[in-house]
Amino acid sequence: MPTYDYRCKNCDSFFSIDKSMNDPHPENCPSCSDTDINRLWDNIQLKGEEKGSGGKNCGGSCSGNCGSCGCG
Ligand SMILES: [Zn+2]
Repeated sequence: MPTYDYRCKNCDSFFSIDKSMNDPHPENCPSCSDTDINRLWDNIQLKGEEKGSGGKNCGGSCSGNCGSCGCG
């Protein structure tokens, strides 16, 4: 079951929720019930790209897109 990480813009708290693919995503912060929350999925993907483009030890996770690590 995937875990989704969220960050609340209002109270700046992080929280993770285990969700199956069929469940709706939460729309409220469990701490303050604010609806202005960010899912951190996109940030995780960006980190992976940064790691790959960094060069040395991407371990092939860049699928050859580094251009500098030589794993492609
Ligand atoms: Zn909150």
